[in-house]
Amino acid sequence: MSYVYDAIIVGGGVIGGSIAYNLSKRGGKILLLEKDRLASKSSGAAAGMLGVQAEMDAEGSLFQLARKSREMFPKLAGEIRETSGIDIELINKGMLKVAINEQQQQEYKRLIAIQRQSGEQSDWLTGEEVRRKEPALTDAIKGAIHFANDGQVEATQLTLGFLNSAAACGVVIKEFVEVFDLQLSKGKVIGVVTNEGYFASENVIVAGGAWSNKLLSKTGLELDIYPVKGECFSVVTQSQLLTTTVFSPSCYLVPKKGGRIIVGATVKPRTFNHKVTVEGISLLLEQAKKLMPSIIEAEWERTWAGIRPQTGDGLPYLGEHPVYKGLFIATGHFRNGILLSPITGEIIADMVEGKPTSLNLKPFRVGRLIKQLT
Ligand SMILES: Cc1cc2nc3c(=O)[nH]c(=O)nc-3n(C[C@H](O)[C@H](O)[C@H](O)COP(=O)(O)OP(=O)(O)OC[C@H]3O[C@@H](n4cnc5c(N)ncnc54)[C@H](O)[C@@H]3O)c2cc1C
Repeated sequence: MSYVYDAIIVGGGVIGGSIAYNLSKRGGKILLLEKDRLASKSSGAAAGMLGVQAEMDAEGSLFQLARKSREMFPKLAGEIRETSGIDIELINKGMLKVAINEQQQQEYKRLIAIQRQSGEQSDWLTGEEVRRKEPALTDAIKGAIHFANDGQVEATQLTLGFLNSAAACGVVIKEFVEVFDLQLSKGKVIGVVTNEGYFASENVIVAGGAWSNKLLSKTGLELDIYPVKGECFSVVTQSQLLTTTVFSPSCYLVPKKGGRIIVGATVKPRTFNHKVTVEGISLLLEQAKKLMPSIIEAEWERTWAGIRPQTGDGLPYLGEHPVYKGLFIATGHFRNGILLSPITGEIIADMVEGKPTSLNLKPFRVGRLIKQLT
């Protein structure tokens, strides 16, 4: 016997979670399938930075999308708390992008001018001003850009917040159910084949992160998407050593609740091996000590790794399959999937509903950068 749904979402990460949450608010029978545990892959490994300005310059379609997504967090935090009781730990204390040499200093001052032109708040702090704000940072820092509007959340809490809120609104969520195949007929999707049988729907959304191609290659197309491993570690301090997120080209320090600090992240392309290595963690530790020498006194907490989904042109895929109607794709968010999750969920829910959008989604369409399989 098969079950019929209005939409089926493949993937229980932050992207699948946000889509489920957005669809749940619009009614209908929705199913979400996750092959492992919810939030167990990239979304559970993320540091949770909402680094619109720290991660991107002010030009391009991704910046515009990220900006809109960042604006959605305060309202979303309230909604998720109300529906699921989960606190996504939104912190709006800004971010510091620190310069440790003359060249970075010049480059960052240019970036301030560009970001101000696009209407973003962006201020230069001298080395002294940086240390007045964050006394634990090293004297070697020459200065920093302060991005007052970039913030952070707890990534696992956000993912589970989306999913629990969706479940509270009636979405059926199944862990340890892998989608092996997509059922296609006469130019449209009609269902999915899983280890727990067949589920029917004329709307299927693939939000499988770095694993999305495994499924999509069965439709005769392959996206230009590849895995990028990232390792992190965390420490705990008795008193709060840091209040602002610190971002540098070699590593970042993200202060969390209860004196925790997350240090990330390594970048190793084209591997699905998510083992934590001594090489990766020792490299991060060396960089973190250079930025904040007193980190050596902190208590060790844990290490982990995740696999980010990256694309050939650095832009996510958001849209309908070029051949099969009703088959939607939302993946390739690389280092910014937490930040981009609210807007992605809204965009895909609108597409499923057939609702027009005022956003320019052309740069993210699925029909770009694809290989036709023989
Ligand atoms: C170390 C690290 C730090 C990061 N820091 C940040 C940050 O500070 N800010 C930020 O915005 N982003 C950050 N990111 C990036 C962010 O984590 C990702 O962009 C985001 O989590 C991608 O979400 P996703 O739902 O697409 O993928 P995932 O979280 O990987 O979820 C995809 C899910 O789909 C499931 N799946 C795949 N195929 C199938 C199938 N056939 N059947 C059923 N289930 C399937 C997988 O098991 C997985 O659970 C970081 C990533 C890493 C690794």
